[in-house]
Amino acid sequence: MIDVIIIGSGISGCFLAKKLHEKNLNVLIIEKSKSLGGRFSTKPVGSGLADYGCQYISPKSEILKQLMENLFRKKLVTYIEIEKNKKVYICPYGLNKIPFYLSLGISSVTNQKVYQLVRKTNHWEIKTNLQSFHSKTVILSCPAIQSQEILDKSDINHIKLPNTSYNSFYSLTFSVSKKLNDKIFYFKRDYPWICNNKDKGLLNNDLIYTVNASEKKSQELFIMKNNDRKKIIFSDMNDIGFSNINNMNIHFWKFGFANEQNNANYIYDKKFKLGLCGDSFSIGRVDGSVISANELSKKIK
Ligand SMILES: Cc1cc2nc3c(=O)[nH]c(=O)nc-3n(C[C@H](O)[C@H](O)[C@H](O)COP(=O)(O)OP(=O)(O)OC[C@H]3O[C@@H](n4cnc5c(N)ncnc54)[C@H](O)[C@@H]3O)c2cc1C
Repeated sequence: MIDVIIIGSGISGCFLAKKLHEKNLNVLIIEKSKSLGGRFSTKPVGSGLADYGCQYISPKSEILKQLMENLFRKKLVTYIEIEKNKKVYICPYGLNKIPFYLSLGISSVTNQKVYQLVRKTNHWEIKTNLQSFHSKTVILSCPAIQSQEILDKSDINHIKLPNTSYNSFYSLTFSVSKKLNDKIFYFKRDYPWICNNKDKGLLNNDLIYTVNASEKKSQELFIMKNNDRKKIIFSDMNDIGFSNINNMNIHFWKFGFANEQNNANYIYDKKFKLGLCGDSFSIGRVDGSVISANELSKKIK
């Protein structure tokens, strides 16, 4: 019997796991993807790395500021000044190293999608596509819509999730032989985010870019066949000024980020020992994920 099972290994799930592990609770993280990190995702591109999820961390809340300063002291993250007096944190080995670090010493299983929670007399049975786990407490740390799907399949209907809207868009990562320009971050119509990962501070020899399409452009791309979508993307990248594009990877983020939220910090049903956290709560984005995990951790004994 595990004390707490956390569904989802993004920054919220891993931060919560660390907090509970520090209270000597026995914690297991269950993740549906093949690796931990959620939207803190870093991928090999050619011979280097690209952050293709979260791009940098610009803490607004005290708890995220503390976490980043702590990781800075441990030399896991560093910072760059993107404007006068505005520093943002990045990770030279990719931002996914933050959830990896937070989950050190904590058990986890990957490639297992939770589809149902079953309330037993005194505990939870958590069913995945492969097996079942048993825990006293269960926490969902996925985007609210994904958490809702699990609750629906579990016939749990007394929990009211916040109404969170997510930006959905395509992220592209690729390598090029020549720099576009001297800017770390750049934008063009339809592509509001063009980032040179090497100049951002990733330890890359190669020039590897991350480009996000606008929501409008992404909707146009979404309805195309794969080959047509690829053709348009390559042609748009050429128009922007990229040449010799290699290792192109195209990823659609259905739940990109939740902006400008003003939601409850978390949900915790003390009687059933069921909790929810993540960036659907609090102020959204990374701050929301960490605030909600931190506040929820105080409720779990
Ligand atoms: C391209 C991009 C750029 C961004 N840039 C920034 C930025 O610069 N600054 C910023 O503050 N924020 C940014 N964000 C947003 C930020 O990354 C997120 O707000 C934050 O990472 C969310 O973390 P989380 O732990 O709440 O959720 P997630 O990281 O989504 O974690 C939830 C996890 O749950 C897993 N999961 C879902 N369903 C199941 C299931 N049924 N069973 C098991 N596991 C499941 C998912 O696979 C995922 O790993 C960006 C996001 C994207 C996509």
